[in-house]
Amino acid sequence: MEFPAPAHDRSHPTDAWSGMPWPDGDELQSDADSAWAVALGLLDDGAADDDSPLADPVLLLERLEDRAAARHRATAAEYDLILRVLQDAADDPEPWVGPDPTLDGLWSDARGRTVAAVRRDRLDMAERAAVAEIAVRLRLAEQTVRTRAAHAAVLRERCPQVWTVFADGLVSERHAIETARLAATLPADPASWEAFDAGARDRALRLSPARFATSARVLRERVHPESVETRHQRARADRGVWMTAELDGMATLTAFLPADRAAAAMTHLDRAARHLATIEGEDRTLAQLRADAFADLLAGAGTAGDATADSSASTRDAGTERAARPSPAPARPTVIVTIPALTLLDADDTPATLDGYGPIDLDTGRRLAGEATSWIRVLTHPVTGTPLALDRTTYRVPTALRRWLGVTSPTCAFPGCGRPARDCDLDHLHAWSEGGATDDDNLDPECRHHHRMRHETRWAASRDPDTGDLAWTTPLGAHIDADPPPF
Ligand SMILES: [Zn+2]
Repeated sequence: MEFPAPAHDRSHPTDAWSGMPWPDGDELQSDADSAWAVALGLLDDGAADDDSPLADPVLLLERLEDRAAARHRATAAEYDLILRVLQDAADDPEPWVGPDPTLDGLWSDARGRTVAAVRRDRLDMAERAAVAEIAVRLRLAEQTVRTRAAHAAVLRERCPQVWTVFADGLVSERHAIETARLAATLPADPASWEAFDAGARDRALRLSPARFATSARVLRERVHPESVETRHQRARADRGVWMTAELDGMATLTAFLPADRAAAAMTHLDRAARHLATIEGEDRTLAQLRADAFADLLAGAGTAGDATADSSASTRDAGTERAARPSPAPARPTVIVTIPALTLLDADDTPATLDGYGPIDLDTGRRLAGEATSWIRVLTHPVTGTPLALDRTTYRVPTALRRWLGVTSPTCAFPGCGRPARDCDLDHLHAWSEGGATDDDNLDPECRHHHRMRHETRWAASRDPDTGDLAWTTPLGAHIDADPPPF
C-alpha cells in the first residue's frame, strides 16, 4: 500500500518543550539567518566589491564559493563561542548567580541543603542564566542555544575531523548538524566515533546535505557496535505525540511511534478511508477521508471507527487489536476562546482567539461560543476588555484571575519563552509577604524553569510604573523588553 508523503518532512517535532533530545526546530532557520547576516554585510569577509561589474562567470563563481565558505566559517565560530560561554559559566558561575554564599563561615542554608548541593544548584542555575542571556541577545530559542552548544561539544569530542572542515568553511552547518545528531546517538565507544568521523568527513566534502544525511545514516548503522534490537528498545522510550500550530486555522499532530505500530495505525486509517469512499455520494478525497477518520477516532466521535470495526478483523494481532478497540469517552479539556462582543453580534470582524493557538475563524468562534460546556467563553468588551470581577484580598490566585491571565498573557513572561500560561506558575513580581497584591498588575505567568531562574540567578524583572510593561535585566546587565503579545 502507498501512503501519501507529507508536504514536507515533519518527522522531527519542533516544540521547544517536547522533550526530544535533539529538537531541530530552529536549525534549518539558522542557515537562513547566517545567509541574512552575509546579505546584510554583517560578516566581515571583504564583501565590499560584490557590486563591481564582473563579466567573467569564472570569477563570479569563485567569489560565490568564497562567500559560502566565509558563511560556514562564521557559523562554526558562532557555535564555538556559544559553547565557550557555557563552559566558562560552568567554570565560574559567579557572574551569573552572584558570590558563593557557602564561602561565608557563618553560612547555613534555609532549605537545609548541603554545601555540595548548593554548589551543584549554582552551577545548574548559572548555566541556565547564561543560556537565557545568549538566547535573548541573539533572539534564539533557549533550546536552540542548548542544541548548538551540544552539537559543538559532540563534534569536538566525537568528530574532530568534521569539526575541522566545518571550522575551515569546507562543509555547511547542515552537514555539521547532521553529523552531530548522528554521532550523539552512538554509544560511548571511541572506536565507532572514529570510524564515523572519518566516513562522515569524506561524505560531507562530496555530497549535498540531503544526500549526505542518507549516506551518513547508513554509515552510522555500519559503525554502530550494538544490535538494532538493543537500540530499538532504547528508542521506544522517546515515543510521544506533539501538536504544532499551522497557518489558516490548521494544526499538525505528530506521533513518534515504533514503526510497526505506526504502520498498523496507517493501515487502519487507510481501510477506514477506502471503506467510506465506497459510500454513495462521498466526494472527499482519500487523503481527506484518512484525516477525518484519524480525527474522529482520536477525538472520540467514533464515526469513522465504527465504519471500520469489522473491516480490520482479518489482520488482527495484539497491536491492531488495541488500536481497533473503541476509545473511551474523551476527556473534557478546558479550552478558552476569546470572542470580541461585537464580533459575536456580527457588527465587527475582529477574529476570535483560541487560547494557546491564536486567531481562529469567526464561524468556528461563534459555534464554540454557543456550544459545549467544556469551553470557557470570554467575551471581551470592545473598549475596556476586562470581563471579570476579582477578589484582590486573598493570596491564593483566584481561578478566574488565573484564567484571565492565561488569556491576556498567553505565554510565560520571560523573553522568548512560548510555554502556554496554563502550564506556568503565577509569579508574584512583588512578593506577597512584602505587601504585593494578588492582582493582574503584580502577577505574571512564568514557567517553572524561568520562575526559578528569576529567583536564583542574577536575572531580574521589573514593571514600568507608567506603562505597566514588564522588562528584564540580564545577569551581564543588558536591558531586555518583554516580548510583544503573540496575538
Ligand atoms: Zn518560560
